[in-house]
Amino acid sequence: MATFDLMILPYAPEALEPVISRETIGFHHGKHLQGYVNNLNAAIAGTPFEGKGLEEIVCTAEGGMLNNAGQILNHNLYFGQFMAPKEGNRPEGALAEAINAQFGSFEVFQDEFVKKGTGLFGSGWVWLSTDEAGNLIITQEANAANPIQKGLTPLLTFDVWEHAYYLDYQNRRPDHLKALWAIVNWEVVAERYGR
Ligand code: MN
Repeated sequence: MATFDLMILPYAPEALEPVISRETIGFHHGKHLQGYVNNLNAAIAGTPFEGKGLEEIVCTAEGGMLNNAGQILNHNLYFGQFMAPKEGNRPEGALAEAINAQFGSFEVFQDEFVKKGTGLFGSGWVWLSTDEAGNLIITQEANAANPIQKGLTPLLTFDVWEHAYYLDYQNRRPDHLKALWAIVNWEVVAERYGR
């Protein structure tokens, strides 16, 4: 009995081109994420974690169960926050005001976010989250880690595992990260921000 299912993409596999190719989506969503789903379902069978939610598993499990659950949660947030490329794409409303207040401007925020993603050694994720006081914070998380493990609320994430960009950008991680700004669905991010 499968407990977790592969998320359904809210767009066609070619919808993010040329920023992310259909081929990359095919491997990233169809093979890598599917693999984490299969692994987690196999690992939780017959354990107290069967029937628990993804976030609870990420905050309480260890080892392979934690890593696979973390990767599912991370990828669900990642794939769920994109849309077809849009010129001049940027946040609006309360989230845009908070970014300006916290970082000075959207451009300064973008630079810092890409710098933290580029500077993350090895595999992992760069995140924009809110803390308990509602402040925006950028963090680097290694491998399968998620900001909820630190009590933060994740809003936006860029995947810096090589599987996310190598087919399209090879070693050019900064170019890939900069290109992602065109496909961020800021309405989804604003919903996560919740105000
Ligand atoms: Mn990935």
